[in-house]
Parts: sequence; structure tokens; C-alpha cells
Amino acid sequence: MSVIECGEFRKFIDPYIDGEFDDAERAMFDAHLAICPECRRYFDQRAWLQNAVKPVLKRPCRMPQEARSRLEKKLRAARRPIRARRAVRRFASPASAVVAAGAIFLLVTPLTGFKPSVVDEVLDQHCQQMPVEVPTPAAQELDRWFAGKLPFEMQAPDFRDGRVSLLGGRLSRIRHLASNASAPAAHLIYSVGSHKMSVLVFDGRGVVPFEEPDMHVRGAPMRVHEARGHQVALYRRGNLTYAVTSNLPRGQMLELIGSTL
Ligand SMILES: [Zn+2]
Repeated sequence: MSVIECGEFRKFIDPYIDGEFDDAERAMFDAHLAICPECRRYFDQRAWLQNAVKPVLKRPCRMPQEARSRLEKKLRAARRPIRARRAVRRFASPASAVVAAGAIFLLVTPLTGFKPSVVDEVLDQHCQQMPVEVPTPAAQELDRWFAGKLPFEMQAPDFRDGRVSLLGGRLSRIRHLASNASAPAAHLIYSVGSHKMSVLVFDGRGVVPFEEPDMHVRGAPMRVHEARGHQVALYRRGNLTYAVTSNLPRGQMLELIGSTL
């Protein structure tokens, strides 16, 4: 007999995993886990996600120290000649400030010279430890769950690679630049070894421009950005835009994406 219901179990799963319960509470939850295979599956995935994400969360998706010092060094080097020029030219014109700002801008902007704000948004969503609403390793089950909840037909990418495991999905939103409104999106969470990988699927028309993609992967136009120690790859299939985020090496992530196309 179980004293608690599935809803309660899932609501308090995090303190349970974190060991914040006293013995009596823990016993109730243990008992539910023993008789409920669905909650057991939820528990496994949740525990995995917590383990994978927690160390990252303590330093929430910040730039790795090495990359940071490299950038700071570059910035210092960029500022030096400007200061020198200023000292020579006694009448420091406002133009030198513009030059200084320009130099810094070039260094921190990706090589493409364009970073849609959607990159920051998908990174934020990747870094947040949001629970999955539907924990499942089956892409088809996920597609069925999303049916009717989104204004488009969701199709989870099919990673034909044994290292990738689907953990589940949740409803999300993505901001539209032009209208400043937000549109529904599907947020899918995967594990790749010990890495977490997020895929946001949304109707990208008016959100991500693909006129000048960085590359094509199996015919799909793609933009790739590096930010906060992560790779964000945006690609389009039909009217849908997929934003894949992880801290996997770029080549490996593109290879995984290629396996879905
Ligand atoms: Zn249950």
C-alpha cells in the first residue's frame, strides 16, 4: 500500500533525491517508488538530470576560466594602441571612443558578425534546470504528447547515434523579435554520455534569419554560435527551426545533428 500519490511523489522528487527527508518521509517515498514503475522511470531520469546538471548549475553556464582569460588578454591588447594614440593626439576626438568600442565589439562577436538574440534565449533555457513534463525515452511518445499543445506538428529529431538518449520534454516558449511576443516551443532534453543536450523546436519564421547560413549540413541551412562555453546550432527543416545546445565539441555536435537529417 502506498500512502502518497504519483503527483505528490513528482512534486517532492528533488528534496527526495537531495536526501532532505527524514526517515518517515523517506520510507513513504521509498514505498511508492517500489510499487510504481512510472515514478521509478521519472525518478531515474530526474536523478540523472540532477547529477548531470548540478555541477554546471553551481557555475551557471559561465565562460570557462581559460576562455575568459584569453578574451581579457585580447581586450587588453586591443585597448593598448588606442590609449597610445590618444596620448599622441592631444585632442582625443569622440572618434577614438568609437574605435575602442568597435575593437571590443569585433572580438566578442562570433566570426559571423551576427548573433540573433535567440541564441541567448536557448542558452538560458538549456542552463535552467527545468523539470521535464513528460519523461520518456521514446520520440514518438513525445510527439504524441506535444500534439495539440503546439501550433505546429512537432517532430523530435531522430539522432541515429547510440550515445544520444532522449530523457523527455516540456512545453516552452520562444520570443519573437518583430512582435516582441512569444510563441510556443517544444523543449527536448537528451543526454550524450555525461553531457546534457537541449533541442528547442519552434516555428522559426521571423525569429531566426537563414539568408546567410554559416554552412549547410545535409542540405539544411545552419548557423552555429559559441557562447558561454556552449555550442548553439540553429537549423531549419521546413517551417520548423531546431536550436541544439550543448557543451560538446562543435564537430561532435554537428556530427550528431547530421545523423538526424
Ligand atoms: Zn507513481
